[in-house]
Amino acid sequence: MSDAAALPGQPRGVVVSGPATARAVNVLAPNPSAMTLDGTNTWLLSEPGSELAVVVDPGPLDESHLGRVIETAEKLGKRIALTLLTHGHPDHAEGAGRFAELTGTAVRALDPALRLGDEGLGAGDVVSVGGLELRVVPTPGHTSDSLSFHLPADRAVLSGDTVLGRGTTFVAHPDGRLGDYLDSLRRLHSLTVDDGVHTVLPGHGPVLEDAQGVLEFYLAHRASRLAQVEAAVVSGHRTAAEVVAHVYADVDRSLWPAAELSVRAQLEYLRERGLI
Ligand SMILES: [Zn+2]
Repeated sequence: MSDAAALPGQPRGVVVSGPATARAVNVLAPNPSAMTLDGTNTWLLSEPGSELAVVVDPGPLDESHLGRVIETAEKLGKRIALTLLTHGHPDHAEGAGRFAELTGTAVRALDPALRLGDEGLGAGDVVSVGGLELRVVPTPGHTSDSLSFHLPADRAVLSGDTVLGRGTTFVAHPDGRLGDYLDSLRRLHSLTVDDGVHTVLPGHGPVLEDAQGVLEFYLAHRASRLAQVEAAVVSGHRTAAEVVAHVYADVDRSLWPAAELSVRAQLEYLRERGLI
């Protein structure tokens, strides 16, 4: 949810379809909203010189958008060979079945219910297509099935909804858990420190060029929200809805339902640790 004015390394301007790194092209889905920002970023990835491409998150079931993804690949002289999902939320995954039909590709995801084909996807997997290498990084927390994809050749990470290009994201309690989410942010932060990742290719919003700064901002933001929630409970706000009205007073009301899920996740986290 967009409760931060600007993120470190965030470029100005609107999100548009087009190349983001040497290997990644964004095809922006036409589903903008308070929750999805400019719309879902559908990522088309390919090794330069290779005719094969991978698509991450075909997006909503929107025939014109799915067609545009295929057209974009064709214009670049590429054939889509595989579809991957960062997680199962409909704004990322709803179009996957139809997209697989149109392209004849398998769909790989952590959640077996989202897969089409024989191959799963999980921790430690390396996906290689036409010389392109993607390392699977489990990043549960936004949802339990959230994955990120490390693209070492571009020193980039595709973060799905774990890190957004604008504002911050939410923890979809009870499926998403705050402890997992904090571990995932630390895992992504270590990619920036140990593996030189500097670019975040998010599921929504603009590309970020200071990945380390962004992850430090996200960790600090979560710590400060958690302290605010703890203080709200101590001062007598008992229900999740009361805590939201108190702590998220600065956030647009259309985001309060998502904020309430995050608050429930924070209350669970504090209770499990005996802090409230
Ligand atoms: Zn999501």
